[in-house]
Amino acid sequence: MTADNGVRGHVLKVGAVIEETDDARTLVFEVPDELTERFRYRPGQFLTLRVPSARTGSVARCYSLCSSPHCDDRIAVTVKRIADGYASNLICDTVAVGDLITVLEPSGTFGPRDLGTDVLLCAAGSGITPVLSIIKSMMSGGGNVVVLYANRDRRSVIFADTIDDLTRRYAGRLQVLHWLESERGLPTADAVAELVRPYSDRDWFLCGPAGFMTVAGAAATALRVPTSRIHTEEYRSLQSNPFETVNERLPAATPLGDAAVVEVDIDGETHVLDWPKHTPLLDVLLDNGIDAPYVCRESACGTCVCSVKQGRTRMRQNEALIDDELALGLTLACQTLPESPRVHIAFDQ
Ligand SMILES: Cc1cc2nc3c(=O)[nH]c(=O)nc-3n(C[C@H](O)[C@H](O)[C@H](O)COP(=O)(O)OP(=O)(O)OC[C@H]3O[C@@H](n4cnc5c(N)ncnc54)[C@H](O)[C@@H]3O)c2cc1C
Repeated sequence: MTADNGVRGHVLKVGAVIEETDDARTLVFEVPDELTERFRYRPGQFLTLRVPSARTGSVARCYSLCSSPHCDDRIAVTVKRIADGYASNLICDTVAVGDLITVLEPSGTFGPRDLGTDVLLCAAGSGITPVLSIIKSMMSGGGNVVVLYANRDRRSVIFADTIDDLTRRYAGRLQVLHWLESERGLPTADAVAELVRPYSDRDWFLCGPAGFMTVAGAAATALRVPTSRIHTEEYRSLQSNPFETVNERLPAATPLGDAAVVEVDIDGETHVLDWPKHTPLLDVLLDNGIDAPYVCRESACGTCVCSVKQGRTRMRQNEALIDDELALGLTLACQTLPESPRVHIAFDQ
């Protein structure tokens, strides 16, 4: 997966720019026919944009898709300015129709697998973007949705009209509980718990900046929601840059005698590789020139998820996978180390 300009990703043309609020804009992309398959996505997934930087060449930023694969023809992301933020302000100030942007294919594990279930969605600010995609998709799927949507004030509510239209059209199936800080102050865990108590037995999907996630997570804990039913997407900037093709890690210092052997099924091929026991699987694959999927390399995005078919592994850290997924044998290649002499891993399952 290499764009014409030599870096990872694909170059897409911006087909439209929509001013949503004073500090948020939607970029609608044109996907050429030959990339249609690669840009298929699930509600809740995100794109990673390459944003030019005079200092570092580029930075990478993730933006959730606000469009729905079930009812929108074109894919779109919504970017909200962050005070002193580099990429969000550059995008909001300069991106125009016709611009070309390098993006990675949709990825991420956030969002319900079954559009027919009942869910509780909690979003703050730009955290509404994947939530809107999920709402639109679930309204065509059959599930019932309650949304808690927190914002600074009325003017900063992104997609206010669209959400009003949807609640009118799907009255009885979609309910939105707005929380405006200008009227009620910052949301607290107790207040959130009180509001969403009637829906606490549903699957929870939480999305937004770190402060809101802490509050919503504490509300879930107060209501004794099992962690297996809490799904999170925390908005933060990537520390690494997945657009740089070079694997910057130094060659493994571990002697090969200390390595496991891993058999990896990926893109219809099987590779057998030495796997030094302190080297994450993703690094081993990239070192061997294998085009494994990844974005954040911090265990958060879930892009490098794969299955352990045989053998034992452990993760250094895990923010993306819940207990049920771990029980199925899923793991994150960017964090996985071998624990047995032979391991069999499969991607694309
Ligand atoms: C999966 C995912 C999906 C996302 N989806 C969306 C979305 O749909 N819409 C959206 O708007 N955002 C989304 N984000 C967040 C987005 O990727 C960016 O993090 C956000 O736009 C801020 O980027 P920035 O470059 O403008 O800010 P940055 O320059 O990265 O700064 C972010 C904050 O950190 C502070 N900061 C920056 N550098 C430093 C430093 N050296 N020391 C201390 N503080 C510093 C800044 O002051 C600012 O407050 C998503 C994130 C993830 C992980």
